[in-house]
Amino acid sequence: MLDLLLRGARLPGAAQPVEVGIRDGLIAAPEPEAREVIDLRGSLLTPALVEPHIHLDAVLTVGEPRQNQTGSLFEGIAIWGERVKSLTVEDVKRRVRTVLRWQLANGVQHVRSHVDVCDPELRAMRALTELREEVGDQMHLQLVAFPQQGIHSFEDGEELMRKAVALGADVVGGIPHFEISREYGERSVKFTMALAAEHGLRVDIHCDETDDDHSRFVEVMAAETIRLGLQGRVTASHTTAMHSYNNAYAYRVINNIKRAEMNMVTNPLDNSVLQGRFDSYPIRRGHTRVKELLAAGINTCIGHDSVMDPWYPLGYGDPLQAAFVLAHYGQMSGAGELPALIEMITANPARALGVENYGLEVGNRADLVAYTAPTEMDAIRLVAPRRLVLRAGRVVARTEPAATTVIWDGKEEPVTFLKP
Ligand SMILES: [Zn+2]
Repeated sequence: MLDLLLRGARLPGAAQPVEVGIRDGLIAAPEPEAREVIDLRGSLLTPALVEPHIHLDAVLTVGEPRQNQTGSLFEGIAIWGERVKSLTVEDVKRRVRTVLRWQLANGVQHVRSHVDVCDPELRAMRALTELREEVGDQMHLQLVAFPQQGIHSFEDGEELMRKAVALGADVVGGIPHFEISREYGERSVKFTMALAAEHGLRVDIHCDETDDDHSRFVEVMAAETIRLGLQGRVTASHTTAMHSYNNAYAYRVINNIKRAEMNMVTNPLDNSVLQGRFDSYPIRRGHTRVKELLAAGINTCIGHDSVMDPWYPLGYGDPLQAAFVLAHYGQMSGAGELPALIEMITANPARALGVENYGLEVGNRADLVAYTAPTEMDAIRLVAPRRLVLRAGRVVARTEPAATTVIWDGKEEPVTFLKP
């Protein structure tokens, strides 16, 4: 006997709805006998959404202590410098508790958060490690020791990174393009990767997040990944400078990223508003080469980055919104490209984070999301609400689909926004 039978579930790429069984929190083959039956009425069903790149310590601080009038990265950094003075462990926890609930309602069950460690008291890291305990198995939190102001360009930077690892960081970060010199940048990548290798941790570096085509730290990451044998455990985030590399250099670096089996995270929401700010017309899109990375078979993921902070005032923690923006901004509106966007917020980041027992196959954990849309294309087009979110086979979030009507020729009729 099954615990739960999901009827009318449309799996990615499938034309016809199927049944999905759940027993003891795991996906099971469908059987006629079940304690509970839920009819999904043709809803798309995917595994849990995975957020590979967010800054939880900064969420919901927009407007504090003042608004970012230009919307630029640099005004954002200045405002954050003021806000961080009033940061407390309880302040971080309060804001993060809210956003974790938003994420779960959106179907996100695995979250990798960068946490700023350029603070002698490591307030944000202490808050997040305590919160990771508090949250327990309700969501899976992975924390990155992230040196927002650099490792060698910030007082005691190396020591703070080591302390953050001792506090319980799961991943070691970096920001080489922000270090004072090219040499510091290279040294910071080597420091980060050696620290990760020493402690058996993963690596996720903010790398080349600039429009400067001379920012080339991702090649150092690839070389160090191979040298230290960290294949599959290293992620480069942003890499927006790749947009501006000449094609011959981009070809070489993409080949070496592939060889190093690195994971890549692109953040279309933040980078669409922050890049190209020094350009006069034409203004570069300032975005990494997503299509080329995917074509080379490199594991490429979409991150949300910010939720209502000094750098990005919008967002509600929904990866589908980021996928919608990448469909436009990355010109990924082709018929085969839209389903790839769903993989970039599910299976691909699951691989980057090293999530186990993940996916729709029998025997995996029943961490599932049903959308108020039948296909991947409709889910992206409508940024469709999540009808149902299941964690280990239990309903943990639900949204009642909105009932929209129009008055047409004097009569009220329903509107579904679906192609008849
Ligand atoms: Zn970031």
